[in-house]
Amino acid sequence: MNDYALTAYLVASVLFILSLKMLGSPRTARKGNVLGAAGMLLAIVVTLLDQRIVSFGYILAGLLAGGAIGLFLAVKVKMTDMPQMVGVLNGFGGGASTLVAFAEYLRLSGDPSLTVWSGGPVGTDVLVTIVLGLLIGTVTFVGSAIAGAKLHGVMKSAPILYPMQKQSNAAMLAAILIMGVFFVLDPSRWYLLIGVIAVSAVLGVTSVIPIGGADMPVVISLMNSYSGLAGARTGLIISNPVLIIAGTLVGTSGIILTDIMCKAMNRSLGNVLFAGVGADYVPTEEATEQRTVIRYTADDIAMMLENAQSVIIVPGYGLAVAQAQHVLHEMARLLIERGATVRYAVHPVAGRMPGHMNVLLAEANVPYELLLEMDQINDDFQSTDVALVIGANDVVNPGARHKKNSPLYGMPILNVDYARTVMVCKRSLNPGFAGEDNELFYDKKTMMVFGDAKATLTSLVQLLKK
Ligand code: NAP
Repeated sequence: MNDYALTAYLVASVLFILSLKMLGSPRTARKGNVLGAAGMLLAIVVTLLDQRIVSFGYILAGLLAGGAIGLFLAVKVKMTDMPQMVGVLNGFGGGASTLVAFAEYLRLSGDPSLTVWSGGPVGTDVLVTIVLGLLIGTVTFVGSAIAGAKLHGVMKSAPILYPMQKQSNAAMLAAILIMGVFFVLDPSRWYLLIGVIAVSAVLGVTSVIPIGGADMPVVISLMNSYSGLAGARTGLIISNPVLIIAGTLVGTSGIILTDIMCKAMNRSLGNVLFAGVGADYVPTEEATEQRTVIRYTADDIAMMLENAQSVIIVPGYGLAVAQAQHVLHEMARLLIERGATVRYAVHPVAGRMPGHMNVLLAEANVPYELLLEMDQINDDFQSTDVALVIGANDVVNPGARHKKNSPLYGMPILNVDYARTVMVCKRSLNPGFAGEDNELFYDKKTMMVFGDAKATLTSLVQLLKK
């Protein structure tokens, strides 16, 4: 690799780092995205020019097919399906790492000058890296597919548990490591690599099925991290510095995101991965007993809102489903014009990915200074006239504070029940992602308005304009 290529790789790596920094705020995220894409383009062009490409035909075909599928998905995929999309992309990253690791083994074994079998220039480090690349890449590929299927509802989302699950997973991991050691001792035993891939694929399934659908975004983020690690390993195998740096960046940012989600749910990663949360949850009698709620109309809540001095809006996943962000912004604008203080309270795991609500509201041009994080705004609910909950459920469920057997127990929530009046706009009394009944709906000061969030907000806008 010549100095020009190395310099270009360094520039691409700096662009990736700047991009990640800028993606941290909605203000700069678009620019960050462009910088990241520019870095990737630079890395691809330099790699194509620098390496000894055997045939550009396959590359061009892959570029056209992959580009077309990517464009189609980017345009078509719904915002609410984004976690599955990220899962699929991680899976492809893992699958690519497996293919590159195996291809590198084939290249080495097919080139007598490398004398791989007699411990020539190919060192133990490369062989170990190939084994780890196959293990991480395959677990990521299969695990991401299962996580995506659970999130998309193609597979049962409840945890699937069976006896000796953890022990059998540990045994599989041990078997992979033993096969890896025997392979490194004698790299002509190619069949051991096939064994590593096969057992890793089974491990990808068995390590993800015990995790409930509600925890899948955490798994997707963890798999994102694995795909980065697999990419970095691939970079080590083929001695490509930009792949090592980019893979490490993805690996570390994925683990940071995983940590953010676990903290926001007040759970450890071990609890998310191994506790099978949600499998044995049986709603309490209190939850199943027939309780009634009073049904209010848009007219009722419009009247209350007209007189409110302070309003905190709590957006949730239902806002994204209804695509009601623009009309919500319009309604907030009308309230502000009437002299009310209006702010938005964003829970770190509202929606299906961290930042989901921020992106949604930014799309509707809601000013950033009106968006407040849970810790910034939670103490203000008690001095607020109206907490207006739009399509949120789990993140405002007071049961998270005291129901010990609930899947939500321990998750910090937005204290909407401390506001003077609570208004909840959703279509039914159905539970949220965690499948847990919400006692907020039965609170005397809660006004339930049933219906699609967009339709309700549209009526509110018309009423407030009168
Ligand atoms: P949620 O608990 O999933 O509830 C969303 C609510 O939106 C549903 O109860 C649904 O009720 C309502 N809804 C759906 N479509 C609607 C429509 N068209 N109009 C009005 N309402 C509609 O959402 P959340 O409060 O945002 O909580 C997020 C959940 O995801 C939490 O359990 C969290 O732990 C989990 N999670 C999130 C992340 C993350 O990073 N964001 C990560 C891990 C886990 P109806 O069907 O009655 O309308």
